[in-house]
Amino acid sequence: MTGDVGLFGGTFDPPHLGHVCLLETVTPALAPARILVMPAGRPPHKDRTRASPEDRLVMARLAFASLPGVAVSDWELSRPEVSYTADTLRHLRAAAPSGRLWLIVGADMFLTLPTWRRPEEIFALARVAVLVRAAGQERAVAETAAFLAHRFDAAVDIVPHTPVEVSSSALRAQLASGEGAALLPAGVFDYIRARGLYACQAT
Ligand code: ATP
Repeated sequence: MTGDVGLFGGTFDPPHLGHVCLLETVTPALAPARILVMPAGRPPHKDRTRASPEDRLVMARLAFASLPGVAVSDWELSRPEVSYTADTLRHLRAAAPSGRLWLIVGADMFLTLPTWRRPEEIFALARVAVLVRAAGQERAVAETAAFLAHRFDAAVDIVPHTPVEVSSSALRAQLASGEGAALLPAGVFDYIRARGLYACQAT
């Protein structure tokens, strides 16, 4: 693997247009050789996922694999242990010894970065690209970026972004009452309906 690489992790339970919109902003902004979307296996930040790892991988491929410069990786999903971002970045660095690595995150995840496992290793391995996911988060993001730079010598790029304000958890609730299609990539909605995920009824 050569060139700069961006890592975009998440549970993607399900992937939605907020994720797609973030990738559409970040791709030209960072111009990496490629972005790896990495669905988490057993995510350390969440108690559990609703859809199975297999379904989340299929949905991530349906949502993202056609975006230019974006690939979906099953590396974390195929590991039996909990995935920590530091381990994933170390793996990517071993595969690509030159070129920059970016950890791409939405603002909510960014604000929790100081509590992640081995933050100093994360910031030694990668720059962080952060995008707001709701209006009004800019100030908290700037303050956390300053803190991380001071505490960990972290390199943070705040990427200007107009987010689609949606979350997987809100969508799961909407899908159970037959709504939410407008905020999902079409192929993802069709898959959810066909499989009856999130209590979404096939019509
Ligand atoms: P949940 O509602 O279950 O917490 P989520 O919508 O936050 O899920 P994740 O898969 O946990 O989705 O998010 C993966 C990454 O995408 C995180 O870095 C998160 O901050 C970012 N993200 C999620 N939704 C948006 C959005 N609407 N705009 C920008 N970034 C987003």
